[in-house]
Amino acid sequence: MKEPLAVIRPPVALLTMLALLLIPLTCETHAQRRSNARARTAAGARMTRDPEIARMLAEIDARNIERTIRKLVSFGTRNTLSAQDDPKRGIGAARDWLYSEFQQIAQTSGGRMSVEKQAYTQAAQPPPRGRVPTATVVTNIVATLKGTQAESVNRVYVVSGHYDSICTSTIDAKCDAPGANDDGSGTAAVLEMARVMARHEFDATIIFMTVAGEEQSLLGSTHFAEVAKQQHMNIEAMFTNDIIGSSLGATGVRDRREVRVFSEGVPSNETEQEANTRRGTGGENDAPSRQLARFIKEVAATYTPGFDAWLVYRRDRYLRGGDHIPFLERGYAAVRFTEPNENYNHQHQNARVENGIQYGDLPEFVDFAYVAQVARLNAAALASLARAPARPKNVLILTQRLTNDTDLKWDANNEPDLAGYEIVWRDTTSPVWTNARFVGRVTTYTMPGMSKDNYFFGVRAVDRAGHRSPVSYPKPLGRQQRENPSNPPASGAGANTPPPVP
Ligand SMILES: [Zn+2]
Repeated sequence: MKEPLAVIRPPVALLTMLALLLIPLTCETHAQRRSNARARTAAGARMTRDPEIARMLAEIDARNIERTIRKLVSFGTRNTLSAQDDPKRGIGAARDWLYSEFQQIAQTSGGRMSVEKQAYTQAAQPPPRGRVPTATVVTNIVATLKGTQAESVNRVYVVSGHYDSICTSTIDAKCDAPGANDDGSGTAAVLEMARVMARHEFDATIIFMTVAGEEQSLLGSTHFAEVAKQQHMNIEAMFTNDIIGSSLGATGVRDRREVRVFSEGVPSNETEQEANTRRGTGGENDAPSRQLARFIKEVAATYTPGFDAWLVYRRDRYLRGGDHIPFLERGYAAVRFTEPNENYNHQHQNARVENGIQYGDLPEFVDFAYVAQVARLNAAALASLARAPARPKNVLILTQRLTNDTDLKWDANNEPDLAGYEIVWRDTTSPVWTNARFVGRVTTYTMPGMSKDNYFFGVRAVDRAGHRSPVSYPKPLGRQQRENPSNPPASGAGANTPPPVP
């Protein structure tokens, strides 16, 4: 089995590997010195454990997840093009059942959760290019748990699964499409998180969402993300859970110890100017979604011992897509959770036996206890995000003076329980943050003797209970680019990339 990437917890295995790798390339003492320095300080980048979050995770129950998945399968098909008015079979029956489940959960929230059917009519997108032969109503079930802190209630975290399913043909609305794993698993995880978390309070708002039309090309999630953008909704992070149901891969490998978390390194919505800045300063590994993935890995180390986030530094699986992409395209940080080893015999297949092999996305191939573990990691991450302060805004590295120090600056947070900020840093080749320093309630800080040329830096906010925000990665603020002398000299926020200094 693969050794999980060790991180923020003292990454002994990783460091040993790194040290071994470095020895042939550089002198041993140098490698050893750097490794030791990192090991000593890595513990400083860890999170603080919130006992109430730990209790929530204990309340997540695999039996509820199994019950939901079997119920979803009982609707025969949940193809987005299937019946919307049959009470027993088709996506309409699944939609109404989910709506009623979320409504029952809302009753336990002390009036903080509201449930909405968010519907729109998708115009026809005829085959072969499209997957919607005739105009079709697509309905998302959106359960919103309002935050309890005035300064944070408009800060939103979204967790989603898709409740539609398909068989071999995307547009066959009649065939059985059990969709137990894809994506009964994600839907059941979201419902179970809502059940447990509705009874707890969070500073920020959490949206528990199940969407339709994913298999028709991300229709429901695109609609939600577009409406959110139009309404200037402040979505700070989005998780999609899609195919999180099986711990047993097609290769016969059983892996109950981790879930893949896919994140992009270069933003899907990056502008040409941002690309220029990135070319001049680095940062192709530091988009907000990547910081979110690193945050989830720290959460796993803190709350789900024995169950890790396997960070995959890609937007999604190779040339494939999911419901996080419409969010990424609109500038929201988002990641995808998916089981470690997929079995394609059980995805997008008519249920059948061929040459003794059972095909189809059936409940017998779902590991309900595994889904519960993925739900726990999601819930721990969501709860940690929604109890923490917002990530710092307008984080800048000042470049006016040539120096071997690193000068950082950011906007003040406004949460009343803010304790201050941490500067985090890592070697440029490290996949995760390795060091953190608490610097108090300031909005500028200078890292003496540590050059921005040699490390990546970030800033995160910390509240009095020790909840930490994800890291904000700084942009450069400095002198005018020399190669474009027609521009006026830079004098404030939003200035250009610093010039290359000969
Ligand atoms: Zn799916």
